[in-house]
Amino acid sequence: MIVGIDDTDSRKGMCTTYLCAVLVDDLKKYGEVSTPRLVRLNPCIPFKTRGNGAVSFEIKTNAEREAEIKEIIRTQVSELSELREEGTNPGVVFIDSNVLKQNREERRGILKRFYENAVREVLTIEDAYGLISELHFDYFGLKNKRGLIGALAAASFLVLQRNFRKPDYYDFTYELIAYRQKERWGTPRVIDETSVWKADAATYPSTWDTVDRGENKIVFAPHSPCPVLFGIRGDSIDAIYKTYKLIHTEPEERKMLFVTNQGTDFHLIRKLETGKEKLRDYHSYILNGVVGSNPRTVEGGHVVFPLSLSEETLDGIECIAYEPTKGFRDIIRELRAGDAITVFGSLKKKTLNLEKIEVRELNLVMEKNPRCEKCGKTMKSAGRLQGYRCKHCGTYRADTVKEVIERVLEEGLYEAPPVARRHISKPLIRMRMRMEGAEKKIHPSR
Ligand code: ATP
Repeated sequence: MIVGIDDTDSRKGMCTTYLCAVLVDDLKKYGEVSTPRLVRLNPCIPFKTRGNGAVSFEIKTNAEREAEIKEIIRTQVSELSELREEGTNPGVVFIDSNVLKQNREERRGILKRFYENAVREVLTIEDAYGLISELHFDYFGLKNKRGLIGALAAASFLVLQRNFRKPDYYDFTYELIAYRQKERWGTPRVIDETSVWKADAATYPSTWDTVDRGENKIVFAPHSPCPVLFGIRGDSIDAIYKTYKLIHTEPEERKMLFVTNQGTDFHLIRKLETGKEKLRDYHSYILNGVVGSNPRTVEGGHVVFPLSLSEETLDGIECIAYEPTKGFRDIIRELRAGDAITVFGSLKKKTLNLEKIEVRELNLVMEKNPRCEKCGKTMKSAGRLQGYRCKHCGTYRADTVKEVIERVLEEGLYEAPPVARRHISKPLIRMRMRMEGAEKKIHPSR
């Protein structure tokens, strides 16, 4: 049986991954429990608490014990969820492994679509009920049950990626999450920072986003009152455990390794299906375009610039590197009108929140008003498309002067640093390690 769970926490406490860890540990006496999955869904969803995460695991057991297991899960979800909080709407789905054996390919296709849409599109609770009734899944929910969307997506990810070591499956990474003892929840975390820097140095880049060197900050531990002590992310289980052993902290209650879609960029829509399709809010894209005018810094320290999109049917957009992206803004400030770039990020109100950019072709030509050949003064525009005239002697010239300029910025891919990285965004160091886009120059933030 596969179990998917979501929406049990609030900003004031709990974490759906903790609930999952408790269940995985408790249910081991009933059968073999798989490595749980932690999926990050559409990062633009307004209902999310933090990183729009949902969890799933599989338990191999006999049919007689399934009812008992479901009851344990229902009880734990009801007791541990932050039900007093308005935005907490738990959902749990139970997928009988046998159900998936009939019409296997068709059913896998349905689950694949649902998972992909949950990461890239905006779904409704009705979409979740539609799938539940079509495939006859058992489920359980509380309040408005919105968590069923995430629960189904997490369970689908597990079905699709059961044998996650197969190379042709979705990209995935791991996170080892350590949880705090209950009496410490809400108090400051005791973490020996020196040990974290050393551990990170010993295993980076097989582990990543433990620290942010540019900002001189440890980023693997939250500051919220939730049960998470820290999470170590990476591509190698061995490297993750090596890091774990080197880090000294307050005693933990438990720890759990998750297989996850974090660090994969699965939320990005690469290509619009039809030329006529419009860009939509709450969706994340990879788009090609040309910088419309030089970036400017606005109130709050955010850096913005307009982008004309290469897709002729699309209107231009505004791009923004928010203040929390820190040093990434210095890269953005180096862009100039006419640079051909690719942007990666989420769209809201025609503004794309930049996660990464690729500088494809730098504009090395600067157009300047010409100097008067007679008196040496800078000539002024004589009106739109009407050339240039010297105010002093009246000399006329039709064109601007083109000057080749030096650029500090190099072509290639740049990213927001770990302090500002979304869980689902792929660190450039992963691309380099995997030799993705080998012909491209990759400039990881570290
Ligand atoms: P945490 O990261 O701390 O676990 P969270 O950020 O995951 O919290 P949730 O409390 O799980 O936030 O709330 C997200 C809600 O949005 C859930 O109810 C989930 O079912 C729903 N949801 C997830 N993806 C989508 C989507 N693509 N469309 C509509 N609703 C979604």
